Amino acid sequence: MKEINFVKSVADVNELPKMKLPEIVLAGRSNVGKSSFINHIFGRKKLAKISSTPGKTRTINYFNVDDKFFVVDLPGFGYAKVSKTEREQWRKLIENYFASDRDIITVYQLIDSRHDPSELDILLYEFLNEIDIPVTVILNKVDKLKQAQLGAVKNLLHSIFPNLIYGDNFLFHSTVKGTGKKRL
Ligand code: GDP
Repeated sequence: MKEINFVKSVADVNELPKMKLPEIVLAGRSNVGKSSFINHIFGRKKLAKISSTPGKTRTINYFNVDDKFFVVDLPGFGYAKVSKTEREQWRKLIENYFASDRDIITVYQLIDSRHDPSELDILLYEFLNEIDIPVTVILNKVDKLKQAQLGAVKNLLHSIFPNLIYGDNFLFHSTVKGTGKKRL
């Protein structure tokens, strides 16, 4: 991997890049650590910061990796202060994105290890399964938990999301400790 570059932020699926490349999609509730994840995996300090500037948090953010694939950062959900209208806009944008003709390889769904999966986490996972998109669940911020707590969360996720196989489509990640970087 040589280069990752920010391409554009998209608020409407009509604005998706004309260029077609395989897409690796990141999804999760706001504050789960998606921006930090991109910066960590690609070894760039401030690359994904652009996506957290005002107005950009409700857009789909495209990054181009070596002209080989896109990393697609979906807008975070579940932010308490968001109005019903904004939530509806988020839902439409996501649904339209998945209904559009993109070459989606997989979705990395980030889940915060400190909280039980939210209703929206579960709905998203079920939605992606229904439309047959392969999902990898990334349990994030694992540096925050002790070994025994991690084991409990792992069991909980296995019971909620029965298709998960740890080490395959279920991985741990921490920006702080570097967990999962090599594998991912
Ligand atoms: P986003 O809203 O999903 O893009 O989340 P950010 O990347 O902005 O991260 C939200 C907060 O979580 C920030 O304060 C980060 O420093 C923190 N954070 C992100 N990743 C980790 C991690 O692996 N471990 C810990 N302890 N904190 C993290």
